[in-house]
Amino acid sequence: MKKVAVIGCGAYMDTGYGCPGEWRCLKAAALGDGKFDKESQVVIFLKCQCPGRNTISNTGMALKLSEIQPEAIYLSSCLVNPKPGCPYITPEELASMLEDKTGIKVVLGTHDYH
Ligand code: SF4
Repeated sequence: MKKVAVIGCGAYMDTGYGCPGEWRCLKAAALGDGKFDKESQVVIFLKCQCPGRNTISNTGMALKLSEIQPEAIYLSSCLVNPKPGCPYITPEELASMLEDKTGIKVVLGTHDYH
C-alpha cells in the first residue's frame, strides 16, 4: 500500500471542530479518496504550529525517526484552504521548502469532505 505523510494546520487542529486530524484526512487516505490517487497508509501525521518555523525540521526528524519513507507528503485541506488564510506562509511556499528539504513530492490538499 502507498505510504504517505500528512501535515495539518495546528491552528485548526488545536481548535477542535473541523480538526484535520479527527477523521477526514485519515478516511480519504484509507479509501483513496479526494487527493489520494490510491488507498494509502498514513505513516507520519504532523501538525504545523504557528508561525511554522519548525515544520520543515520536524518533518525531517519524523522521517528519520519513523524509518518509513513516504512516497508523498500531503498538506491537509485545512492547511491549504483556510479561511482566513495563514498569515505566515503560503501552502505553495511550504510545499516548495518541504520538497527541497526532503526530496519527496508534496501534494496540496487531502480531501473534499465537509
Ligand atoms: S503557521 Fe499557518 S499553517 Fe502553520 S499552524 Fe499556523 S496558521 Fe496553520
